[in-house]
Amino acid sequence: MTKLNIAEALQWASSMLAASSESAHADAEALLLHCLGKSRSFLYTWPERNLSAEQHKQFTQMVLRRSQGVPVAHIVGEREFWSLPFIVNESTLIPRPDTEILVETALNLPLSDDIAVLDLGTGTGAIALALAHERQGWKVTAVDKVEAAVELACANRDNLKLPQVEILQSDWFSAVQGRKFQLIVSNPPYIEEDDEHLEMGDVRFEPRSALTAADQGFADLFHIAAHAREHLLPGGYLLLEHGYAQAVNLREKLAELGYQQVATVRDFGSNDRCTLGFWPG
Ligand code: GLN
Repeated sequence: MTKLNIAEALQWASSMLAASSESAHADAEALLLHCLGKSRSFLYTWPERNLSAEQHKQFTQMVLRRSQGVPVAHIVGEREFWSLPFIVNESTLIPRPDTEILVETALNLPLSDDIAVLDLGTGTGAIALALAHERQGWKVTAVDKVEAAVELACANRDNLKLPQVEILQSDWFSAVQGRKFQLIVSNPPYIEEDDEHLEMGDVRFEPRSALTAADQGFADLFHIAAHAREHLLPGGYLLLEHGYAQAVNLREKLAELGYQQVATVRDFGSNDRCTLGFWPG
């Protein structure tokens, strides 16, 4: 194999990915960093350093997979969320930067430092583990219906050294019957089943069960909102992530169900992203 240096490798990969990815250069960088096991500054400090034959081969294979649409996170097996590394795989959603808004909103609620928290549909465990990382006194329980997601969340809990987080297999509230919490959070599936975006980009490689819901995407949001009332302590909060066009209907639903101080928070792209309600009890 001809020798390839870092600058040439980046250039080759960027052009290979230009047609299939909107983030070709960033993808090329992320794949090369993973392949070399180095920091980003290394790439630009040593542009003329050659890849070893093994690195060259591995990098070529990773770029080819990316050119077929496979998400970068699946290729490298990891995605950063809340500045923490999360192991990811095909069993569940890849954590999104916009979901950090939900974490931030939860941390800003007027809650004490020893509360019980429930994260429904935890997936990788991103929300639950980010909260537990920030609030060591919070008793966080994370649940998911999918066994492989539960295993993944447990692996992330071990990797992040947050053994106090309880992780259970549960169909929404089924495994926490009779238990109450001061805060219930969720990033449930909320995309409409026939949404055209499901045919584009990374979501093609994520399980539909983590993405779509019936009733224009409202089925799980409404189910959680209704049943959370049985699991919230008086003075607690429900906080839900949702689609950019779902805020008005969800606020109406929460008010109808008896939640107060219902409000929506926007994400980094100024889209409505999370809605919360106070449970008076
Ligand atoms: N926000 C994600 C997307 O649009 C979906 C997350 C979800 O369904 N909970 O791809």
